[in-house]
Amino acid sequence: MNCLELTNLRKEFKEIVAVDSINLKIRKGIFFGFLGPNGAGKTTTILLIAGLLKPDSGRIIILDLDIEKDETEYKRHIGIVLDRPLYFEKLTGKEYLRFVGEMYRLDKIIVKKRTEELLSYLGIEEKKDDLIETYSAGMKKKLSLGAAIIHNPDLLILDEPFEGIDPISARSITNVLKQMVYKGTTVFMTSHNLELVEKLCDEVAIINKGKLIFESSAEKIREEMKNTGQANLENLFIELLAAEKEMRSLSWLE
Ligand code: ATP
Repeated sequence: MNCLELTNLRKEFKEIVAVDSINLKIRKGIFFGFLGPNGAGKTTTILLIAGLLKPDSGRIIILDLDIEKDETEYKRHIGIVLDRPLYFEKLTGKEYLRFVGEMYRLDKIIVKKRTEELLSYLGIEEKKDDLIETYSAGMKKKLSLGAAIIHNPDLLILDEPFEGIDPISARSITNVLKQMVYKGTTVFMTSHNLELVEKLCDEVAIINKGKLIFESSAEKIREEMKNTGQANLENLFIELLAAEKEMRSLSWLE
């Protein structure tokens, strides 16, 4: 069964086609890596899937739910960590998680329990009663992840989730993500950290200038790496994009 289906998805900003007729089917319960160079269209795609931007054309279906037809129910199935998360800076971390949990209409007792567990697991328990505006960038990102998973979503969308996260926290976050995938959640993640993508993802797609240029399972990628003699996903990524973008050097360094 598919968790997410994008059909001919398109979004333009003035003269730029940020997302250009993207078609994608992502199975339930997999870790999906959505890669691409800066400005490729990853965040725009994510904002469209999350319903925070409206597409010019195309369809987005999550588990048979069409955002156009049932936006509220559709959004209940999603958890999202944005590249630059939105916060209520004047709430404490604890208040924020409780607010989000109750917004998803979880039982108050469950919200209280999950809030405590998340604050402790994410290592922000000591700051739980401090205003979010006093948190470091990494703490804010971790809180944002907590808010994205408190309702145990079917689709977890993560835009650069590990940026600014220390290695110990990154390890516990990847453990939680793996457990969620094992239990059936689909994780849709963008990351420039290709080593991590290689380790975590079951499937990978690459977008460039708004178009999908590569889509493959981790298994096929390993085969492709063998065939092309590339030692890792980073080399393969560079090779795939090198045809589009000539590698240049700076004149004064030549
Ligand atoms: P990065 O890896 O740098 O975060 P990205 O793949 O997430 O990049 P997007 O943020 O989706 O890329 O941007 C895709 C294209 O759309 C870029 O050319 C960007 O300049 C443009 N773009 C994005 N948002 C807007 C906007 N609100 N108005 C105009 N152009 C935009």
